[in-house]
Amino acid sequence: MTNLDDTIAAIPTPPGEGGVGIVRLSGSQAIAIAARLFVSSTGRDIRAGQRQRVFHGHIRDAEGRILDEVLLHVMRAPHSYTREDVVEINGHGGAGPLHAVLEETLRHGACLAGPGEFTLRAFLNGRIDLVQAEAVIDLIRARTRGSLQAANAAASGILSKTIYAIRDTLADALARIEAAVDFPDEDLPELVDEALLDRLRATHGRMIDLLNTADAGRLYREGAAIAIAGRPNVGKSSLFNALLRDARAIVSAHAGTTRDRLEEYITVSGVPVKLVDTAGLRATADEVEQMGVAVARQVLHSANLAIFVLDASAALTGEDERLAQELRDLEIPVVLALNKSDLAPGAPVPPWDMPFAAVHRVSALTNAGLKELEAVLGTLLMGGANLDADQAMLTRLHQKDSLRRAADCVERLLQDPALSPEFLALEAREALQALGEITGETTPEDLLDIIFSSFCIGK
Ligand code: GDP
Repeated sequence: MTNLDDTIAAIPTPPGEGGVGIVRLSGSQAIAIAARLFVSSTGRDIRAGQRQRVFHGHIRDAEGRILDEVLLHVMRAPHSYTREDVVEINGHGGAGPLHAVLEETLRHGACLAGPGEFTLRAFLNGRIDLVQAEAVIDLIRARTRGSLQAANAAASGILSKTIYAIRDTLADALARIEAAVDFPDEDLPELVDEALLDRLRATHGRMIDLLNTADAGRLYREGAAIAIAGRPNVGKSSLFNALLRDARAIVSAHAGTTRDRLEEYITVSGVPVKLVDTAGLRATADEVEQMGVAVARQVLHSANLAIFVLDASAALTGEDERLAQELRDLEIPVVLALNKSDLAPGAPVPPWDMPFAAVHRVSALTNAGLKELEAVLGTLLMGGANLDADQAMLTRLHQKDSLRRAADCVERLLQDPALSPEFLALEAREALQALGEITGETTPEDLLDIIFSSFCIGK
């Protein structure tokens, strides 16, 4: 990452052709650098003016040749994303004009920004905390309305506020305990009294509640995987397509990845779910088929949940039973879908000793039972947690780890409040340290590096 004194530049818009492309500058020299490249169509000076201005004109190179016709958006510190002076040069969206303009900014003293460096500056300059910075990337990557809602809630500070409230109670407790350390002759019960312990107990409860949101929070952010399994011809592909028609999620094609036809995203209770049709993984040639079976097994092992499809209109076969056994050995919920129920509405549930998480009669042909199937998938994925996407939720493993440590400290403190105040202070201090790792106040620098380097360039 560059020095905070440097002015950074990057193209935050995605590569490829588009109507508009942006070159973004941030730092103390942002406006001065832009002023050297930009010629206003009305002769205005971009260095003068209020906190936010938009100018029309052209970017020219050293020889005075026009590189692009642009709108220049000037945002003065601290009224910008980074709290520094920011200039966004809105030009035409193509590699030619954008790179030419970017090169000119570098020639005039800007440094190329690293991944996430604008957001890192917003964080270092105190505009947002680490929770909000991480929510920004979740917002960009959100594939469903639920994920988007969760990311926006975190970006606007819902989780941060909850953490700060916990922190404030702990900081108050620590101050009282430290006073007891400093003035051992004073009456201790007055400092660490029952009211304080009650507040700490309530805070501990809040920490546990928050910890219990971690699984659902992670689902909103990372999504889940559901595998569709069953012998050939039971209707897996038909069910896959029916679910897709009903609940396809927004998919952004990531550069460099080709999407598999057998893998699509759907929305289940607001959660992005990768739906994998294991049918196509069985190809025809023998050797290829074996590979396909191995891949199908792998898919099943990494899935959060499986839909086991049977053909209700046909007699059960040995292969159905073998698959059922294989699924029973997986440690994930298995939902039985009795498909083709349009042909056999009253088909019985197979008499196997198998703890299905749910049994549904569906028809991939008529869509009967599909809504009910989707609803049960949502309930199972969420593990019964009834969460609003816009409530305070932990979405990342490092947040959960830190909060777990903080909660453990508070628990030890509460276990024996009659222990020496030195010991109690130690626990309170450690809890505060762990909480600060979530909001970024005490996050080690190497972790910050890892977090921000996962951002895209220009964000
Ligand atoms: P897969 O091999 O398990 O993927 O099965 P397919 O999805 O290719 O379906 C096999 C055959 O069953 C096709 O001819 C489908 O049209 C038919 N099929 C699938 N689902 C249903 C259903 O719910 N009702 C009826 N009547 N036919 C179905």
